[in-house]
Amino acid sequence: MKKLSIRLKITLWFSIILIVVVALTYLVILSVSGQIIQKTIRDNLIQTVESNVDEVEYYSSSDMASTNDVDYYVRYGDGYIEIDDDFLDQVNGVYTSLCSSDGTLIYGENPIVRETAGLAFSDFQVQRITVDGTLYYVFDRKPETEGLEDMWLRGVVSENQGDAEMSDISRYSLILLPSLVLIAIIGGYLIACRTLRPIRQIADTAAQIQQGDDLKKRIELNEGDDELHRLAEQFNEMFARLETSFQTQQQFVSDASHELRTPVAVINAQCELTLEQERTAEEYEEALNVVWRQGRKMNRMINSMLDFTRLKLQPERYAKERLNLSELTDSVCQDMALIREKEITLTCEAEPEVYCNGNRELLTRLLSNLISNAYRYGKENGYIKVSLTTDRNGEITLSVEDNGIGISEEDLPNIFHRFYQADASRTGGGSGLGLAMAEEIAAFHDGEISVESNPGCGSRFSFHLK
Ligand code: ADP
Repeated sequence: MKKLSIRLKITLWFSIILIVVVALTYLVILSVSGQIIQKTIRDNLIQTVESNVDEVEYYSSSDMASTNDVDYYVRYGDGYIEIDDDFLDQVNGVYTSLCSSDGTLIYGENPIVRETAGLAFSDFQVQRITVDGTLYYVFDRKPETEGLEDMWLRGVVSENQGDAEMSDISRYSLILLPSLVLIAIIGGYLIACRTLRPIRQIADTAAQIQQGDDLKKRIELNEGDDELHRLAEQFNEMFARLETSFQTQQQFVSDASHELRTPVAVINAQCELTLEQERTAEEYEEALNVVWRQGRKMNRMINSMLDFTRLKLQPERYAKERLNLSELTDSVCQDMALIREKEITLTCEAEPEVYCNGNRELLTRLLSNLISNAYRYGKENGYIKVSLTTDRNGEITLSVEDNGIGISEEDLPNIFHRFYQADASRTGGGSGLGLAMAEEIAAFHDGEISVESNPGCGSRFSFHLK
């Protein structure tokens, strides 16, 4: 049973239930029709006898002489019993006979006259008698006509009278019901196959993806909007997300290895060159400085990559709280103003009491990344202006403006990509991950970062938060 497919199990289950229901229906049909037929037979018996009662009359001799019709007459006592020609002695299996109260048949028919001779007459009563294993209904009526006080009308009908109808009903049921069961089972099986086809396609596609590592595969279904179509759509969306995240991961690994290769190559080259011959103490010191700088660069890059991955893969590590963004901005600016690289002046104009729902560590990182860049790509004796404002709609804008080297139009669309560095910035010591991280932090807070830049004049990065 466990090895059967779902569609077979469903079909089997419904077939068994259907067969049981149909069998019970068949029995109920037979039993109800049997009862109805038997009642009809009895009603028919009563009706026939009742109508025959009015067809029997008694005439004294003088009355007899005055009538002229041609009905059947039986001499009785001083007169005659007249049996009208409408008297039905045998109709629809009902036999009616006129008997004297001692059981002697006067007129009419009774197929079990001997067997019913001992059966006491009982007015208006349907009695039962079994003869040779067959049940007969017997119905007696006493004529109310004057002169016939000693007479009885006895109707007799066999219960087998309904056999023909019963066998018809049984035959039709035996043909019709199994045909319906068969149609229902075949129809049910086909519908189950059709309905469950998407599940098979889902399983096949998942297997193909697993075997062939082809994340591009999708479940292809016909038009439809049932639960399975929706499930297939969900799977397709999941496959698409898997593909994207797999590609992103691959891209990340390849970018990271590419970026790490340069400092490693510099270290190797520097070591090889230095070890080629005996060096002076200053030359060794200079070589060590190169190695140290490249080591620091790699360290920065690895830390940035780790932070970036952590934020992407484990955002739950960074809880949000209601925090005073004005205080945070002031404090970051105070710390970073101490850098005083290239004699650049940092000023901060933060609107007081600006609150937001965010993560302190991440927002500090975002602002310091933007300010570090402004220092790194700033000019000697330049400036950095940090401002925090809110507009009428409550949107918060945190901007970092500098009058540094600016960004060319071609570079502008790429600067938020991981590891992207404009050529002019390659020697700046950055990792190419600062802005990608800032954008990720902005997205984490449901905000966004925009940039305006004028090459040679400066740039302005703005973080918008609703
Ligand atoms: P990096 O570590 O190289 O600074 P980022 O992701 O922070 O990496 O920045 C990507 C690139 O964007 C930089 O290499 C630089 O070319 C450009 N950039 C970023 N900020 C500025 C700025 N304030 N002025 C000019 N160029 C900038």
